[in-house]
Amino acid sequence: MLNLVLFGPPGAGKGTQADFLIEKFELTHLSTGDLLRSEIAANTPLGLEAKKYMDKGELVPDEVVIGMIGNKLEANKEVKGFIFDGFPRTVAQAEALDNLLNGNGMPVSGMLCLEVEKQELIDRLLTRGKTSGRSDDQDESIIENRIQVYHEKTSPLKDYYLAQDKQYSIDGMGTIEEIAERLSETVNKL
Ligand code: ADP
Repeated sequence: MLNLVLFGPPGAGKGTQADFLIEKFELTHLSTGDLLRSEIAANTPLGLEAKKYMDKGELVPDEVVIGMIGNKLEANKEVKGFIFDGFPRTVAQAEALDNLLNGNGMPVSGMLCLEVEKQELIDRLLTRGKTSGRSDDQDESIIENRIQVYHEKTSPLKDYYLAQDKQYSIDGMGTIEEIAERLSETVNKL
């Protein structure tokens, strides 16, 4: 099984590159952001709870996203592999993911971190906000908060995966095709 964690700050291009990797390596996409937005669209209690955090650019509580991922893993046992996009975002989430995957004998194969300069992130998110309808992409102070939360709570995960010898930094600046090529080269070596 090939299990990839696609990692990087908001606006790094995880969703775009996930589409490419899914196709090329026949993986199943698990994006916590997408899953949470579907819960909001369906007006579920989980969605209503999550929205309070997402609107401010804060992280949704660990137990909520961990429960959601656990259900999806349970429901997709026969697949070739997963691409985790936007998850894990905290050390507690990474530990929970390891427990879920190792229990089934299918550990994380590698964590691919897209590295992008801060101003480029802000520009990409504001551009996306013009067409995506995502309110968290339309306000620069919320974008700044998401980047700040990334540095405080999520980027420490690089050390978590480095300690397992699974962390790969990928230059996320350039064209979509250039970045896809860099990711492929790394995945082919896993
Ligand atoms: P981006 O990476 O562009 O910020 P996402 O769609 O991945 O976009 O996430 C949007 C929001 O959903 C986050 O700001 C956060 O509030 C919430 N979210 C998504 N994934 C997680 C997670 N793993 N843990 C906690 N909150 C999450």
